[in-house]
Amino acid sequence: MAIALAVDIGGTKHEVGLVDHAGHVLVREREATNGDLPWPGLSALIDRVLAIGRGEGIIPTCCGAGCGGPMERGGTTVTPLNIPGWRRFPLQRRLAEHTQLPTTIENDAKALALGEGWLGAAAGEQDYLAMVVSTGVGGGVVLDGRLLHGASGNAGHVGHIVVVPDGRRCSCGSRGCLEAEASGTSIAAITGAPAAAAPAAMVERVGTLVGRAVALVAIVLDLPLAVIAGSVALGFGAPFFTAAQCEIDRLARIEFARGATIRPAGLGADGPLIGAAAVALRPTTSPQMTAR
Ligand SMILES: [Zn+2]
Repeated sequence: MAIALAVDIGGTKHEVGLVDHAGHVLVREREATNGDLPWPGLSALIDRVLAIGRGEGIIPTCCGAGCGGPMERGGTTVTPLNIPGWRRFPLQRRLAEHTQLPTTIENDAKALALGEGWLGAAAGEQDYLAMVVSTGVGGGVVLDGRLLHGASGNAGHVGHIVVVPDGRRCSCGSRGCLEAEASGTSIAAITGAPAAAAPAAMVERVGTLVGRAVALVAIVLDLPLAVIAGSVALGFGAPFFTAAQCEIDRLARIEFARGATIRPAGLGADGPLIGAAAVALRPTTSPQMTAR
């Protein structure tokens, strides 16, 4: 039975688990990180999970990891905006050497898209956008049943669609990107308080801007569905989703895009680990995940 060592690498925490071919999370451990030089902590966390697994007779056969972008295709090197200590870090080679497992790396939002299509809110769908609205904003697109990669492997980076012309300065160098206007970090900078304490007007504004980005992508790619994960979006809940849907309905008017729907992601806190597992297990799971 295929078991994946699933690794979710973030700017503020790492999570590592063992996930079986049906998507059951059998072991999970997480640890906070400051994002400077995460490898020592990450490799120790992996060792801990492998040791727990050995004790229970759970031995992984492959390793899948989700990591913030940008990255070279396949994670040969990664340069996550949220991990300043990693610039062109050779993540695929380091993980493969450390675990001695066949290792596959993917952008964390693209990994989440695979997970949501496998067992979450997009299960069975062939065409959808998956987004994470959290400290940052990321995304992945499945079109005709295939996860899109693009020329450099970074397809789906919806966080850097401009939603406010000449808006706030973004870490990418542009202005008014979705990430610069609607991420948890940006909301905190605008309001002076954590995103969880954002006033109703800000919740509505963030929902509207996310809906704007979803509408643009839905029109360009003929997508009927967007599933949204992330602590900011899920924390805001219904008022956020209502505002986003209103903006989609207002902007996506061409016939084929009418009715494009936004809904919360289905995997909740398991999303990142199941997504990372899906990166490694996709050849053996649902047909829509076989395409690379
Ligand atoms: Zn940007």
